[in-house]
Amino acid sequence: MHSQNACAECAQPCSTPYVPQHADYYDFGDICSVLESPSTPVYLLLTGKPPPSRDASASKLSWGTLGFAKWIRSQGASTGVDEHGRNGRPAVLLAPPDMLQDDSATADVEVCLMATFDRTETFRCLPQVLRHFCIPIYPHVDILPNGTHSHAVPSWPIANTWLIALPVHCKMDQVVGRWRDERAGSPAGASFRFRDNDVSRLVALCRRRRWSWETLCEQDPTLREKSLKEYKVRHSAAGDIRA
Ligand SMILES: [Zn+2]
Repeated sequence: MHSQNACAECAQPCSTPYVPQHADYYDFGDICSVLESPSTPVYLLLTGKPPPSRDASASKLSWGTLGFAKWIRSQGASTGVDEHGRNGRPAVLLAPPDMLQDDSATADVEVCLMATFDRTETFRCLPQVLRHFCIPIYPHVDILPNGTHSHAVPSWPIANTWLIALPVHCKMDQVVGRWRDERAGSPAGASFRFRDNDVSRLVALCRRRRWSWETLCEQDPTLREKSLKEYKVRHSAAGDIRA
């Protein structure tokens, strides 16, 4: 397995539980359950709009509104619950609002979503747009020696998860809560996070990947259209992409 040699932490992954100091206040790097589809950042990038399924079902709602969060909840298991029966999909908080000043449900929060894409484990098998923006999260079979990857603390419990380095804005109402650490022996309230340094690296990496994508689009004016077509073909059989 490649990942054994990728970095010091791959050799010695963290297993110490993370119990947030303030259960109700989120911090940068916290991993939460978010009611948002991994297709959303992809569609926003390629078309400037959220996925069409949302347009059709919630045409009166603007994207990211409180209304959308209510709508997605009302869809129940078909959209808001992942394969583990949890509400929402995992996402890293890049810029939570200042909860002390504004804890309203409509406050903006910027996140990067995490997904397994129906167990698509290798870069080779991802559509081009996801190959460009996805980062493997340890443990992952496709972490190359010295290759870009990241670590949650403690180590992420779902193997072969990707982080989509395309930030999206959500409303606090779409944040269901922290992603629960359900490993045997974990204390109550335990969760997962990215270290401050890793969040800073991730933010810089999101920017670089976006710039390089825009450069590719300048070189090939058909890239967006081709990428959207490929993305739709790869994922139409599976329906909406599951986390
Ligand atoms: Zn590593």
